[in-house]
Amino acid sequence: MNENNYKKGIIKYKGEFNMIDLHIHTTHSDGQMSVKEILDKAKENNIKVISFCDHNVVGAYKELEGMDLKEYNIKVITGIELNFVFNNNNLHMLGYDFDWKEMSKSKYINNKSEEEIIKDENKKLEFLKDVCKKQGIKVDDNLKINKSNELASTVIKYHMMEFKENDKILDEMLGKNREKSFARGYVHNPNTPFFIDETKGLPSVNEVADLIHSCKGKVVLAHPFEYKILDGKKYIDDIFKLGILDGIECMHTRHNLEQVEYIKDFCKKNKLMITGGSDFHRESKQRLGYGVNGTVPIDEEYLFKTF
Ligand SMILES: [Zn+2]
Ligand SMILES: [Zn+2]
Repeated sequence: MNENNYKKGIIKYKGEFNMIDLHIHTTHSDGQMSVKEILDKAKENNIKVISFCDHNVVGAYKELEGMDLKEYNIKVITGIELNFVFNNNNLHMLGYDFDWKEMSKSKYINNKSEEEIIKDENKKLEFLKDVCKKQGIKVDDNLKINKSNELASTVIKYHMMEFKENDKILDEMLGKNREKSFARGYVHNPNTPFFIDETKGLPSVNEVADLIHSCKGKVVLAHPFEYKILDGKKYIDDIFKLGILDGIECMHTRHNLEQVEYIKDFCKKNKLMITGGSDFHRESKQRLGYGVNGTVPIDEEYLFKTF
């Protein structure tokens, strides 16, 4: 099994089996597509089971209540991606198949109005613009956030890339293809001048697991190998030892095949479920229904399978 063979086989796979995608963002958090647009796209791609996992909100499920899903023939499982703090790192936990109305009452669910969210992000954006100028990176003074699904760290990354003058410094910071995450590598990294501490008021790992379990959901560790600042294998061990996990996200856009196999083995040994999702935010970055950098279709094996 290698990534290139999968790449060649993509057309063949389309629609041949029941594809799933258990990690999708919408405009309710930082995704670019609406709930309806995702449903249309999932139908077009023959994806049979999906889960919207927006950051710290359950707005997608509220929206779905008023929608008729029959025409789609797609099963939607409730999902959420919750931030938590562990060893001073701001990390992600997935919750699935929970009572979203119960969840919406939690103090860890973001119930801010759109205006408040936009105001908060603009504050961060002003700070990041200042740091950019001090670092000799060109930015426009008038840059502002206008929509509640725009994050300061994403907006400024794409803004910096617009200026040719910034090419050299961005080559060093983000790589030639700009593949590195400005959020993870800089804004969430205390060792850089761009650092913004977003951990205030966030739950601990135990609190986040308790919340999901209290809403009758499954606790799934999100993309353990995505974090560049963590040793993924050690991170899995550390969280597993706490005895709070029901499963681990195994198939993911930012995991390679070796990491997928590692998690599968770990889950087999420890009787945990595996899940899979693209972590879809925008079409230029992820492919709905595919993991491993858009090369491997996610099939039913990743639908909470235990071995
Ligand atoms: Zn995440
Ligand atoms: Zn995500």
